Amino acid sequence: MTALYDLADLPGRPCTIAAALELVGERWSLLVVREVSLGNHRFSDIARGTGAPRDRLTARLNALVAAGVLERRQYSDSPPRSGYHLTASGRDLLPVLQALLQWGDRWAAEEPPVRLTHAPGEHEEHTVDAEWVCRTCGEPVNSSRVERVLTPAGRALSGLPAEERREH
Ligand SMILES: [Zn+2]
Repeated sequence: MTALYDLADLPGRPCTIAAALELVGERWSLLVVREVSLGNHRFSDIARGTGAPRDRLTARLNALVAAGVLERRQYSDSPPRSGYHLTASGRDLLPVLQALLQWGDRWAAEEPPVRLTHAPGEHEEHTVDAEWVCRTCGEPVNSSRVERVLTPAGRALSGLPAEERREH
């Protein structure tokens, strides 16, 4: 189960970027998702991988579980211990991390420590790019060819009539 925001409760332009940031915009959140995706499921491993202070990390993990991004799974009965795993919602953040990595490589760091490649096998020298691809035709699209179209929900939140008026 994922927490859902009523966009009318958030200030400014009605937009799910704002709702997404409510859930994962805190600085440790996406780093936690990175660590879990790398196979670090235990608190101590996530703490080491993120570098987050333990009290902040506890609060973040609880919030990410409440938001439906992570789930706890018990891995030991005595003493009872549980680890953190990505839900479907958490797995859907991986392309977001990939895009942030690509941006960071280009604009935030002198020398990237990691490169993503199209492995395994014959593609291993191919660098992977985070890119928008059309869901219908599979064609890569860049932002200049993407149009923002208000949905009925977006039109309602913007105070526009439900139907777009077409001029005849
Ligand atoms: Zn390839």
